[in-house]
Amino acid sequence: MQYINIVNEGVKQLQPYQAGKPIEELERELGISNIIKLASNENPLGLPESAKQAIQAELNNLTRYPDSNGFYFKQAVAKKFGLAPEQITLGNGSNDLLELIAHTFASEGDEIMFSQYAFIVYPLVTQAINAKKIEIPAKNYGADLNSFLNAISDKTKLIYIANPNNPTGTFLSTAEIAEFLNKVPHHIIVVLDEAYTEFTLPEERVDAFQLLAKHPNLVVCRTLSKAYGLAGLRIGYAVSSTEIADLFNRVRQPFNCNSLALAAATAVINDEEFIAKVAENNLQGLKQLENFFISKGLKYIASKGNFVLLDLQQPALPIYDALLRKGVIVRPVGGYGLPNHLRISIGLPEENQRFIQALSEVLDI
Ligand SMILES: *Cc1c(COP(=O)(O)O)cnc(C)c1O
Repeated sequence: MQYINIVNEGVKQLQPYQAGKPIEELERELGISNIIKLASNENPLGLPESAKQAIQAELNNLTRYPDSNGFYFKQAVAKKFGLAPEQITLGNGSNDLLELIAHTFASEGDEIMFSQYAFIVYPLVTQAINAKKIEIPAKNYGADLNSFLNAISDKTKLIYIANPNNPTGTFLSTAEIAEFLNKVPHHIIVVLDEAYTEFTLPEERVDAFQLLAKHPNLVVCRTLSKAYGLAGLRIGYAVSSTEIADLFNRVRQPFNCNSLALAAATAVINDEEFIAKVAENNLQGLKQLENFFISKGLKYIASKGNFVLLDLQQPALPIYDALLRKGVIVRPVGGYGLPNHLRISIGLPEENQRFIQALSEVLDI
């Protein structure tokens, strides 16, 4: 018998996530030894000292289950942003939360809305629960919120918006978000995925938490994987009304965040010095790449994230492959319907330079 015939209808259409090989394995296969990875929007500055110390101190407690409620981390987040701990739900990375939200609110036949070129987890989660994907055509690569409003139906349950969006780096202002929320009926849950918010400039940053009072249907997701450098530990948090947080906490796995992640996250959430350094490195790195693109007449999409999407105006895979052979891993985004683009994560200045050098050689420019 073929077991695919008895899986839930949505799962039948799913394709496995295409993860890259370990760097060590790639180096062995290609016979090179100095690969740099600018492919997963990871933090190039490494684990902050504050997190290292917290992890070290937590090692003695690993025979015990983690704190199911993440008491200290929620306290730290609540204090930092002026929230109540009861508004916070923790996740095993924010991907866990994005899925948890769908499981909590949507079921088969419901409509879940997101933009063309939006983060790939939204269609994936929708498909897995056999809900209906409503993909709204992008405007200038970003979310076209007026078209979102026009597409709302009786069946709309959930709307996902990444701001800034991955992989395009496009960004919606506070005014645009606020105007949108004013027009969405409160029985539709709006998820604002702010995985990259720490990379936006303070003066343009959307204060989404402040919108919660007026919009009880809003859920804001944040992660420790990007600016905070904890991608390998898997931790993120959602902020909502206490009523919605209570619902999430009924559905989530009781120990979905591990002890090391909780300890490290509690330490690093207040490590302002580290975050400032990360943001500054990113700003300079973005400029470094943009200046190169501009000087060579290459097209790119202006980004507010820690990555930039390059439009090669020719199939990107051969160029991705040639870069790989020079020891530079970037991210092809054909899976997003962008076969001519590559996404490059911002690295350290010398890593960005390696990419610039490699691409110049590959394109002979
Ligand atoms: C990276 C990313 C996340 C966060 O993933 P984690 O599961 O927290 O590591 C969420 N949303 C978007 C748009 C992302 O790019």
